[in-house]
Amino acid sequence: MARKKIVIANWKSYPATKRDALKLFTAAKKSAARARNVTTVVCPPVIFLPLFTARRKLFLGSQNVSGEGGVAHTGEVSASMLVPFQVAYVIVGHSERRALGEDEAMVAKKIRSALAEGLQPILCIGEAERDTEGAYHEILRQEIRSALVGLSSAEIRRVLIAYEPIWAIGKSAADAMKPEEVHEAVIFIRKTLTEIIDRSIAERVPILYGGSVESDNVASLYTYGDVDGFLVGHASTDAKSFNEILESVSNA
Ligand code: PEP
Repeated sequence: MARKKIVIANWKSYPATKRDALKLFTAAKKSAARARNVTTVVCPPVIFLPLFTARRKLFLGSQNVSGEGGVAHTGEVSASMLVPFQVAYVIVGHSERRALGEDEAMVAKKIRSALAEGLQPILCIGEAERDTEGAYHEILRQEIRSALVGLSSAEIRRVLIAYEPIWAIGKSAADAMKPEEVHEAVIFIRKTLTEIIDRSIAERVPILYGGSVESDNVASLYTYGDVDGFLVGHASTDAKSFNEILESVSNA
């Protein structure tokens, strides 16, 4: 079944100024408009969200969301606060946030907070290192189960999974995963989903790859990795690279 292609830009804590943020978003908007059959999502630092307007094929996402109810949570931004700013997606459980102490219980709460407000969670999972015995499978299974078990089928249908092996993040195309390794992980993730929900739904959950996706490796990762798209970090903060990535995915 042909699935929709999706490319998500994770700007992390970049850029430093409002002016640069506007420039980068304008470029992403043009690239997204040119890309055929690709949904583009830009996840800027939350402070820049009010500057941007979503378009057809170009959506806004947040890099984080509070999993807590109530107001006594200094520094947190709730899902209901994001909605009026046209935010449609939210990254949850990124490894850089897990490294700051976000645990599985917090990730599960954030997924539920996002869903309750109609946002689509992008659940990030991934092992810190690869072992030859395949123990990383158990890490992936645990991250999926702890985040999704207990959700209804209708809720899981609105979740996207971003497989981001931590060891491949923030490097270069040469250090990224090989397409056949990505393919193997995608098969495993789908199999794990079938332990939780009907196969027909598991097959429709978008699975993205993230970890040093650049213009040099994106076409082969898409063609041979069997992914629905990508979560792009550093290359999404360079207008030319991001345009090339969207072009490649569009043509793939
Ligand atoms: C990320 O951190 O989500 C990511 C994919 O980063 P990079 O593309 O820089 O590896």
